[in-house]
Amino acid sequence: MARGGQQGDPHDWVTRAADDAIRHAAGEDRVITCSSGVSPSGPVHLGNLREFLTVHFVADELRRRGVPVRHLHVWDDYDRFRKVPAGVDPSWAEHIGRPLSAVPDPWECHPSWAEHFKAPLRAALHELGVDMDEISQTERYTSGVYRDRVLHAVRHRDDIDQVLAKYRTKERVPESEQEAEELADSVADDEDVDTEATAGLERFPFKPYCRECGRDTTHITAYDDETTDLSYTCQSCAFSGVTNLATQNEGKLVWKVDWPMRWAHELVDFEPAGMDHATPGSSFTVGHELVETVFGMPRPAWFGYGFVGFAGVQKMSSSKGSVPTAADGLEVMEPGILRWLYVRRRPQQTFTIDFGPEIVRLYDEWDALGRKAADPAKRDAAVLAQERASATMTAGALPAPPVVVPFRTLSSVADVTAGSAELISQVIEHVGHKHSSVTDLEPRLSRAMAWTSEFVPPEDRTIVRSEADADRLDSLSERERQWLSLLVDGLAAMPDELDLTPVTALVYGVPKLAHGLPVDADPTDEVKADQKEFFRLLYNLLVDKDRGPRLPTLVVALGSDRIRSLLTPP
Ligand SMILES: [Zn+2]
Repeated sequence: MARGGQQGDPHDWVTRAADDAIRHAAGEDRVITCSSGVSPSGPVHLGNLREFLTVHFVADELRRRGVPVRHLHVWDDYDRFRKVPAGVDPSWAEHIGRPLSAVPDPWECHPSWAEHFKAPLRAALHELGVDMDEISQTERYTSGVYRDRVLHAVRHRDDIDQVLAKYRTKERVPESEQEAEELADSVADDEDVDTEATAGLERFPFKPYCRECGRDTTHITAYDDETTDLSYTCQSCAFSGVTNLATQNEGKLVWKVDWPMRWAHELVDFEPAGMDHATPGSSFTVGHELVETVFGMPRPAWFGYGFVGFAGVQKMSSSKGSVPTAADGLEVMEPGILRWLYVRRRPQQTFTIDFGPEIVRLYDEWDALGRKAADPAKRDAAVLAQERASATMTAGALPAPPVVVPFRTLSSVADVTAGSAELISQVIEHVGHKHSSVTDLEPRLSRAMAWTSEFVPPEDRTIVRSEADADRLDSLSERERQWLSLLVDGLAAMPDELDLTPVTALVYGVPKLAHGLPVDADPTDEVKADQKEFFRLLYNLLVDKDRGPRLPTLVVALGSDRIRSLLTPP
């Protein structure tokens, strides 16, 4: 019903945001624009992914309604390179002040610093079914697309300054790393503050990149409103020059003006922002006022979205850095599940993505929701979120396994066998999940394998003994000896390819047989106590621990021969 309906669920944030975007464009016969923006200055982590997915879900909702819409993604790659991160050759400091698109890629795999960080995110977004129109601010500015708007801003620089002055505070304590950078930026903008010689130019809204060295360490010395000639000297290379704002494209608007200019130019109807951008005096708040007073467009519909945290990533290999990216998320989560994390909660809510054992519960929850969604009588907000997560209007259904096997089963078998996908698939078949090939289990199987090897702490891994524990086998009690031979003989009587059901009956039945009871007898208290002791003995002998994965699964995974070799003296 929501799929083709006009309204959807009024309590659903996606529905409401889509309504707001339509309202913003009311009366105008044009495509609705939902916009995201990111500066490709470093790895785009799972917190930044909220920017993209929030906008994507709203655009996708509008597509469902048949409303012409584009998800406009703006790469702020004309922003300055601010600092050399740890792990990069310190000589890259010479590029500080140049546009991200003009800084070489230290890893030498992409044409620029900006492209190096765009590429993996673009690939991950494609896998997530996110369909966007990308624009590069470098391309926009250097081709002159924004020229008229730049001239407009420069002509109205006094109006701009009046707005900025209202919010300007001497000492603002940054509330986040992002805001600290924002403040650092505005300090950089304010560096031009000088004496009477440059009166009126200290807060000029346009900053040229030096024609000689490419850095934004330029100091504006004069501006002629008639000719639009802007004179500057470069504090890095001492170059002095003139750039003409009407004919040359050698710089950009300062950040707080750049954003509203872009909203007006691209006719943005909806653009959210991180909570830390939504504080008074932030570029976002100031931009909302500037877009209305200077650029004559109502501020885009918006909301602030909350922070995304991480847990369970300690074990993640150091080559990946300390904060997981979208690609890291996709390594262990199906695309639909990763999307679901972002759509199921209101954007204002913060949440944590846990790469530890919580992943197993997450998959269980997702599978349960999938079963609920299959029943039309059970439609509700949770099911709507599941639908938004699992399919898009442009990509259709996102990859999901044709045969759904619980993630805990797959990861447990991956753990026990430490083997290939084919081997795991065989065991999965024998533990009761019929399927015709490995591909029936994908894309989940490879994620279970990756999660087991990369995120399960070593102490929780199951390491099957490579040879029998001769000392322990030498010191078995009479009763223990009897249990083991009942098990080994019982397995020997089964076909080579073990099946879970008879193995389960045998494993639980051994202590009953030892008491002269049939395998299917109800367990007495004595039998129950013996089962506990027998299971611990098996874990000791098979995996050198007191506990581990479910024993029947472990037995099926290892097979009769391996079990026999570990349970009988060499
Ligand atoms: Zn220079």
